[in-house]
Amino acid sequence: MAFGDGTDIYRELGVTPIITASGSTTAYGGSKLRPEVVDAMVKASTTMVNIDELNKAAGKVLARVTGAEAGLVTNGAASGLILQAAAVMAGSDPAKMAQLPDPTGLKNEIIIHRSHRFPYDQCYRATGATLVEVGDGRRCHPWQLEAAFTENTAAVAYLFSPYITRRALPLAQVVDMAHAHDVPVIVDAASFVPPRANLKRFIAEGADLVQFSGGKAVRGPQGTGILCGRADLIEAAFANGSPHQFIGRGMKVAKEEVIGLVQALEIFVEEDEEAETATYRRMCQQAVDALIEAPGLHVRIEFDEYNYLVPHAVMTFTNDWHGPSRDQVWDDMVAGDPPVYLHNIYQPDELAIDPFNLTDEELEVVIRRLREVLLG
Ligand SMILES: *Cc1c(COP(=O)(O)O)cnc(C)c1O
Repeated sequence: MAFGDGTDIYRELGVTPIITASGSTTAYGGSKLRPEVVDAMVKASTTMVNIDELNKAAGKVLARVTGAEAGLVTNGAASGLILQAAAVMAGSDPAKMAQLPDPTGLKNEIIIHRSHRFPYDQCYRATGATLVEVGDGRRCHPWQLEAAFTENTAAVAYLFSPYITRRALPLAQVVDMAHAHDVPVIVDAASFVPPRANLKRFIAEGADLVQFSGGKAVRGPQGTGILCGRADLIEAAFANGSPHQFIGRGMKVAKEEVIGLVQALEIFVEEDEEAETATYRRMCQQAVDALIEAPGLHVRIEFDEYNYLVPHAVMTFTNDWHGPSRDQVWDDMVAGDPPVYLHNIYQPDELAIDPFNLTDEELEVVIRRLREVLLG
């Protein structure tokens, strides 16, 4: 069984290679780095440059690709959220930047839909910001958002993430309302590409800062992120970040990683998305065909613009299913040889195969192991 050329390196350390059928999941290895990116990083590592100059030049590429005024390579998407919050609270004022995470005297309220609360919002709170929730978790009325603005409002945060986004007011409406109060809208769309069109979409809808992950579908270095948006806010995010000695100093991006991300992004936007989708569809169909006979298991391909951004082979464990429970199946797949991590984050009665990180060979192993676990 081949796991790529890294197998021996990990085994020597006593670490077991796994198969990740869960898409790009940081806990299960993230994404497979593009070979061209590795080459560029190795070359970049041999030459010294001024990091400010490098970041500005890389930012121009990010701006071009996203249609934003400016861009910044961040240390993962998560730290980009910290820089978003720092930028809207402290701007580029060194006295204010040095004060964080003490919010005394700064605008410190970030409005967020209750339905958009998620584990990563701790990144917003890390700067000393207070989250002000609007809506009841299922939906939000415009008057509820309107009533939340105060003189301390620093931003409205908005999340694009499967199964969550649409329980909130539409982004364009949030932007209109926030801008009427002179308040910026900061967006987390870390995993919301492909479609590649999303790289430009949220900026086009008026968002002031938008964050994407560089280590997920873009397949740049795992520890990179793409922040883009208004020039003054990007400048502020950069001022608050490494190499500058403020709140973002602990979230360094190395020169090789900056180069790797730029390289990955340039390749990503040129790729044929239709062909890529067709490949994922074929892989999912192979899984569906192999599992369709399981009685009580509803197996099909899901692909849409909000919940399954690339085709997934989805299994729903219906009441007519009498085999091992969904949780048991997950456990058995992880406990097997090789360990297989399925996609399990959306619905409690559902498991899925996300083909993003799979080779055809790995897909066959996933299907074989699933048939063993499900059908005995
Ligand atoms: C993955 C993800 C992040 C974190 O991205 P990293 O690049 O791993 O730091 C943040 N927000 C959302 C919605 C995500 O899906």
